[in-house]
Amino acid sequence: MKMHEKIAPPDAVDFLGLDALLSHEERLVRETVRDFVRQRVLPHVADWFEQGILPREIATELGKLGLLGMHLDGYECPGASGVAYGLACLELEAGDSGVRSFASVQGSLAMFAIYRWGSEAQKHEWLPQMARGQKIGCFGLTEPDFGSNPAGMRAFARRDGNDWVLNGTKMWITNGSIADVAIVWANTDDGIRGFVVPAVTPGFSATNIHKKLSLRASITSELVLQDVRLPDDAQLPLAKGLAGPLACLNEARFGIIWGAIGAARTCYETALEYAKTRMQFDRPIGGFQLTQEKLANMLIELGKGSLLALHLGRMKDEGRLHPSHVSFGKLNNVREALKIAREARTILGGNGVTLEYPVIRHMNNLESVLTYEGTSEVHTLILGQQITGLAAFT
Ligand SMILES: Cc1cc2nc3c(=O)[nH]c(=O)nc-3n(C[C@H](O)[C@H](O)[C@H](O)COP(=O)(O)OP(=O)(O)OC[C@H]3O[C@@H](n4cnc5c(N)ncnc54)[C@H](O)[C@@H]3O)c2cc1C
Repeated sequence: MKMHEKIAPPDAVDFLGLDALLSHEERLVRETVRDFVRQRVLPHVADWFEQGILPREIATELGKLGLLGMHLDGYECPGASGVAYGLACLELEAGDSGVRSFASVQGSLAMFAIYRWGSEAQKHEWLPQMARGQKIGCFGLTEPDFGSNPAGMRAFARRDGNDWVLNGTKMWITNGSIADVAIVWANTDDGIRGFVVPAVTPGFSATNIHKKLSLRASITSELVLQDVRLPDDAQLPLAKGLAGPLACLNEARFGIIWGAIGAARTCYETALEYAKTRMQFDRPIGGFQLTQEKLANMLIELGKGSLLALHLGRMKDEGRLHPSHVSFGKLNNVREALKIAREARTILGGNGVTLEYPVIRHMNNLESVLTYEGTSEVHTLILGQQITGLAAFT
């Protein structure tokens, strides 16, 4: 660059010019998902949220775009990079956290569990159909009395001849009542194990949790397993102990690092546009210093969170991402996204509390995102343990 050449002013959203750090293929993935969200999600999502539904056909549409299990390789999964998967999560969650949650649970929890811990037969049976969105999966780890501390789970699978007989209750299970297959984690005489449970198995039932005020465009259910008899080969043969579900959670949490930035971006963009056009005291509210301080702080956290997501994505693709890095990213990006959403809501004034604008929907959704896949407190404790060597969980 010659001295006299003028430096282009930064964009109001991609202020740090992070686009330049993405490859052509990565930008293509991002644009494809952004278009899908623009056409298929944004026109309807406020109604879905209000009605508490997510249309079933979204699953096959996401499947056609290769977004279900997109970072898995083989079995009809595209084998995309971590960064490409992250960008897809970001764009889906810019639409709604419920849509991103669907893709996360399907690809990173249910499919990943089979991919990482399953037998060849289990992979061939389930992964291609799940990648196409023809079969839906859920992931049952949390129980009514054991959320942050899944090690205490009461679900139990006992041996009966060559069979397993599974009993227990799982709570807050995304996609539970629409799932064709549930990955259920249960204690055995040999410690925690994972089971592939087809939803048609006698004794398996799922009922929806109602009255949620967050993540409404997402199905959340309670699973009851009452003397569910499963053949020996229903067990995920390679998963032993809590490391089994935790490896899956690590994949989904990685997607959340990016997804939260998508929700935050939508809130920031909405607030910025509103601030430039809403007149009070004969001038746009964006001309008041107090509003500009809010917007500037939102912009800074959005940029820092985006950089962090991209950095952690590159580390994942280089095989250098430790689970505590994922805690770092999830804790920061969800916490800051929620702050951005709350700040954006104030800029919208009264309009900030209606579904006519996306902000309060994202704000309410992010309350769930802060809690699931490890609460912010749990991720704080993981970081604390990593840097001090001292566990403070109990
Ligand atoms: C919409 C939604 C969808 C979900 N989807 C799924 C799913 O698909 N599959 C699944 O298995 N689960 C799912 N969950 C469950 C989620 O992972 C749990 O809610 C989460 O792990 C917290 O567990 P809990 O709700 O039992 O809260 P608790 O564990 O009871 O925690 C309550 C509070 O105590 C704090 N706390 C707990 N222990 C400590 C400690 N040692 N130190 C300090 N503070 C502590 C927590 O951080 C939290 O603030 C979902 C939850 C929601 C809301």
